[in-house]
Amino acid sequence: MLKIFNSINNKKEKFISIRKNKVNIYVCGVTVYDTCHIGHGRTFISFDMIIRYLIYLGYKINYVRNITDIDDKIINKSYKKKISIKKLTKNNILKMKKDFKNLNLLNPNKEPLVTNNIQNIIKLIIKLLKNNNAYISYNGDVLFSIKTYKQYGYFFKKKEYNNINNLDNKIDFVLWKKSNINEPGWLSPWGIGRPGWHIECSAIYNKYLGTKIDIHGGGQDLVFPHNENEIAQSQCAFKNNIINYWMHIGMLMIDNEKMSKSKKNDFKIKKMLNNYNNEIIRCFLLSRHYRKPLIYKNNSLIKYTNILRFMYKSLQNTNPNVKTLLGKTFKKRFFEAMNDDFNISESYSVLLSLSKEINILKKKQSSKVHNFAARLRQLGKILGLLNNNPDIFLKKIIKKPLQTKNKKKFYYKYIYKINKIRNYYRTNKNWKIADKMKNKLIKLNLKIEDNINNTILYKK
Ligand SMILES: [Zn+2]
Repeated sequence: MLKIFNSINNKKEKFISIRKNKVNIYVCGVTVYDTCHIGHGRTFISFDMIIRYLIYLGYKINYVRNITDIDDKIINKSYKKKISIKKLTKNNILKMKKDFKNLNLLNPNKEPLVTNNIQNIIKLIIKLLKNNNAYISYNGDVLFSIKTYKQYGYFFKKKEYNNINNLDNKIDFVLWKKSNINEPGWLSPWGIGRPGWHIECSAIYNKYLGTKIDIHGGGQDLVFPHNENEIAQSQCAFKNNIINYWMHIGMLMIDNEKMSKSKKNDFKIKKMLNNYNNEIIRCFLLSRHYRKPLIYKNNSLIKYTNILRFMYKSLQNTNPNVKTLLGKTFKKRFFEAMNDDFNISESYSVLLSLSKEINILKKKQSSKVHNFAARLRQLGKILGLLNNNPDIFLKKIIKKPLQTKNKKKFYYKYIYKINKIRNYYRTNKNWKIADKMKNKLIKLNLKIEDNINNTILYKK
């Protein structure tokens, strides 16, 4: 029986879907003022793992994730870059989709844009105004009046908001923002304006999933005020609105600093994918329990390269495509771990023990080796791992130093440096020196594949 930690009740609960064998999931998506970094990667790979597991359990999934394509950050960025909002968001959406595809994320069933849902948002605000849960402020904005919703703050900040009488209008939040002449806007009963941030999620999940939602998720940083405000809006506007389980993904930290404050450019998904196979990035981003913060260290990706290499090595020279009934104890342990609110470290340890077992069987030249390899691949695939052909995966050399051991580190650094020099002379069309460097690499027993933007080196 699957148990999920429900952040609204602060405890693990049995997962029971509203409809038999069907799960409705809504996840707060990306604000596309920039391209995606691995902080986004962690949130959406975690939900990808959760969804893959639910699919494996036999549920039919209806997964909706919005795209915030109008927001003050987007407006500011378009001024700064001197390009239109449309062009900026269109570019970033294309890049986001490409990054997510390259990370092997399952596509949501629907991925609605906020700007395609303005009328739904306006309708929802009209409803809230009619119910007296909202008011038009002195400056023309429409605000949600939190004192009209007695349970406000109850869900995620119970202690702080216990005494509703202490609240004043200061934390009333914007539903509709009046636009200045030079700002983008849509015609509404309150003049030209644009939606506030929180209202979009209530309007979008209501339109695409109705009032009965199994799982609502997002990053940990969205709990308050964003998700709290969503609840307030939805409870006041829709009758019988149900969201059964709230799931929040812990933040990705760089040297204990929140990802959002770090130098994001160094941690763009695209940049990471240039240097590492997507499964290495996935393996790292899933490596700590999804609710806990994950700390990125210099050697994080090297560590998970080595872990995956160990698993792929055990798959080498086996036929993992056979049907298997063996390795049931491993399967049982794996499912127990996953059913316990996706206990990933235990799932990883099952995969590693299984790899060790395969290596032992190989030494014994046992015919069971193929069945255990098939079990390893089956369980790995549930997490979105071990999808590659082991020979191809192991052949690829990552363009950065791989090993932490000094001797090998020196060796890879040396290769990396020669390749860098070669590329410099290639771009400057100095073929003589470039060829000299090429010969050095060939002497080191490496195969060279030149692409338009980069060079991939393989061990021969
Ligand atoms: Zn949201």
